[in-house]
Amino acid sequence: MKNAHLLKFTAFNKKNENAPFYTKRQVFRACILSTVLYSCEGWCTNNIDKSIRKIYMTCIRSLLGVRISTDVDLCLHEIMMPSIEVLVHETQRKYYMNVVNNVDKHPLLCRIMEMGRNSQLPSGHITKCKAMKHIDKVIATNNKQCISQDMANRRDRIAQTTKTKSMLYKLWCPTLAVHDVYTTRKYFPEHWRIAWTRFRLGSTNLPCEKGRWNDRNNTKCLCNGTQTETHILLDCAERITHIESVQELFSNEDQRHTMKQIFDTLKKFEKV
Ligand SMILES: [Zn+2]
Repeated sequence: MKNAHLLKFTAFNKKNENAPFYTKRQVFRACILSTVLYSCEGWCTNNIDKSIRKIYMTCIRSLLGVRISTDVDLCLHEIMMPSIEVLVHETQRKYYMNVVNNVDKHPLLCRIMEMGRNSQLPSGHITKCKAMKHIDKVIATNNKQCISQDMANRRDRIAQTTKTKSMLYKLWCPTLAVHDVYTTRKYFPEHWRIAWTRFRLGSTNLPCEKGRWNDRNNTKCLCNGTQTETHILLDCAERITHIESVQELFSNEDQRHTMKQIFDTLKKFEKV
């Protein structure tokens, strides 16, 4: 059922390609998060259904405009979103803490919870049912910082990993700070923003990128040299950019100009 929302959201993004990023993000929050997480207070298990995680990640990738195989940690860090597991945990925590603090308002639920804590086995033993074990764990932990902790852990993971894409990401953005583009309401032409995000997250169609997973013999650049992401920005004879360092392109200064440069660079070099 929830798959239908994923299809609607990808169709929305396709049809409204030039809608500002913050509009797409609002649509994602209002239409996708609310439906995917609908009634998640009752999911009394530690393992969330795989299909829910898949829908969540596919929507985030569609929102960013990157390939579906782009690294999960990088996508979530780029847009500063927690994992779906933590979102569900936080929704459950808020709900059950509200129930615990307002017992008078939820007499039936409290009675059911009490029965779950003292359920009788066929052997006559009194035990706590699985659902109540989960709920009691959520209430006992009552971790208000779980979302910020999850994001900080992800940031540490990216800082320590040596995966190719993460190393490239750290080259563009050594401080791993979240960019203004995703947090403010400034408008940038969306086709520039998507090209710029694709470049940041290593989701381009450059010959050197394709060579990593497909055509290993065809990684030559327009200048006949060996192509890398930094080569087309700094060293290539055919380059469009005139910059001192790559970090300049991803800093918070003069974003319109730098996005346009990345867009033009990809347009030129992806054609090969
Ligand atoms: Zn070149």
